[in-house]
Amino acid sequence: MKKLLPTSTAGSLPKPSWLAEPETLWSPWKLHDETLVEGKQDALRLALQEQQQAGIDIVSDGEQTRQHFVTTFIEHLSGVDFEKRETVRIRDRYDASVPTVVGAVTRQKPVFVEDAKFLRQLTHQPIKWALPGPMTMIDTLHDVHYKSREKLAWEFAKILNQEAHELEAAGVDIIQFDEPAFNVFFDEVNDWGVATLERAIEGLKCETAVHICYGYGIKANTDWKKTLGSEWRQYEEAFPKLQKSSIDIISLECHNSHVPMELMELIRGKKVMVGAIDVASHIIETPEQVAQTLRQALQFVDADKLYPCTNCGMAPLPRQVARGKLQALSAGAEIVRRELTHSIL
Ligand SMILES: [Zn+2]
Repeated sequence: MKKLLPTSTAGSLPKPSWLAEPETLWSPWKLHDETLVEGKQDALRLALQEQQQAGIDIVSDGEQTRQHFVTTFIEHLSGVDFEKRETVRIRDRYDASVPTVVGAVTRQKPVFVEDAKFLRQLTHQPIKWALPGPMTMIDTLHDVHYKSREKLAWEFAKILNQEAHELEAAGVDIIQFDEPAFNVFFDEVNDWGVATLERAIEGLKCETAVHICYGYGIKANTDWKKTLGSEWRQYEEAFPKLQKSSIDIISLECHNSHVPMELMELIRGKKVMVGAIDVASHIIETPEQVAQTLRQALQFVDADKLYPCTNCGMAPLPRQVARGKLQALSAGAEIVRRELTHSIL
């Protein structure tokens, strides 16, 4: 019988301080050339080990080999000029200096496939691999070539599909697309956002997920959250379309956020990665708090489709906090797993 309530994280974990400056996003690497390659692999090993020691069921690379969840992927593509930077507003929320699309975007070679093969040979556990989604990618760029967000998104969807097929061949079990932009650009999500995502997963036999969140616990995000009022209903906009889509799993934010739980009803039938760990706080949840969030989610998600998870990535957290949160997630899931098994018997 398949394990009930398999745990996983949304993606990133903190990097060791010898690899990159801790508690910082876009932190520059501290190593170079050959030693950087080796250092990233060592960090990936550690990230895997920490997940295993905490009892996480579906493991990831902890995004140890990338500087940023969107930029690192784009760096590997041609058609984007990283010298030519413009300041743009990301997700309608904060300004950032981003590279410019100056020509046709193409993927000349695989981006994460070697890293995925490396992780695959280290474990027999199911592996989840995160990629940026098309809409979130275009939102992190300045474009003077396509001059259309939609056109560029379709190009990225094609590229992501190539990468996804190679990740699948490398033995990845779940490919996840990070689409925080789905919580912001509702009209575009429904016009072409979900469609481009489906293009990105075309022909895949492995499972697919989309992660939609309210972002890392950085100031720009926490300030934005203050403007959202007491009920965060953003998911209401994208969920009906996603429910009808071919995506298998929806990863969402839940614990400590103001998302009304009943919104999960809108994706009934899908597997749901329920965020039971708050990544915007250094306070480590108790297993009972995690269990409570999962019990509430069970009102809207069938037990065999509930995947306990974190709200978002944990890259900016201190390592010991992230470690504690992984353990809490695992212990909390175990409490509810036992309750479910007893109720079946
Ligand atoms: Zn996230």
